[in-house]
Amino acid sequence: MFEVKELPYEMSALEPYVSERTLSFHYGKHYPNYVNTLNKLIEGTEYADMPLEEIIRATYGKADKQAIFNNAGQVWNHEFLWDSMSPFGGAPEDALLDKITKQYGSYDEFKKQLKDAAVGQFGSGWAWVYEEDDAIKIMTTANGDTPIARGINPLLNIDVWEHAYYLDYQNRRAEHVENFIEHLANWPQLA
Ligand code: MN
Repeated sequence: MFEVKELPYEMSALEPYVSERTLSFHYGKHYPNYVNTLNKLIEGTEYADMPLEEIIRATYGKADKQAIFNNAGQVWNHEFLWDSMSPFGGAPEDALLDKITKQYGSYDEFKKQLKDAAVGQFGSGWAWVYEEDDAIKIMTTANGDTPIARGINPLLNIDVWEHAYYLDYQNRRAEHVENFIEHLANWPQLA
């Protein structure tokens, strides 16, 4: 049985960019719903004792396992998201910033491309930053899809489902993404 993971900060810690009210629904209702639904779907199946990432890879691309994949993906994506945000977030540092600056010409240009990708994702989904072949790359996924299914380990994600921002920003996804990147993005250190 999967359990709801603890939020690494107070529910009001990301204000004013993500309100306590938004997190009370997003962390408090949407995320546990994915966890509970996944538990119900895998009970008594071959997936019951698998680690989450293994369930995602085992159900990826299987039409008859779509519901399990969607919910497992959403559990993984949200647990990654809680760590992709921080009250002390902002720009990356050191090796990651150097790499981004060299590759994109400037951190501003990288931010623009990340924002464009996140805003341009049609419908519900996610924007991701990851490292591959010594390059920092940007991708998006739809609905519950996740780079983990393709063996990609992300550095950061941004939730662009409306439930992530609608109470605070209504239809203004671009404003949410902008504030996320400027104020909340919790970049890891490159190894
Ligand atoms: Mn979400």
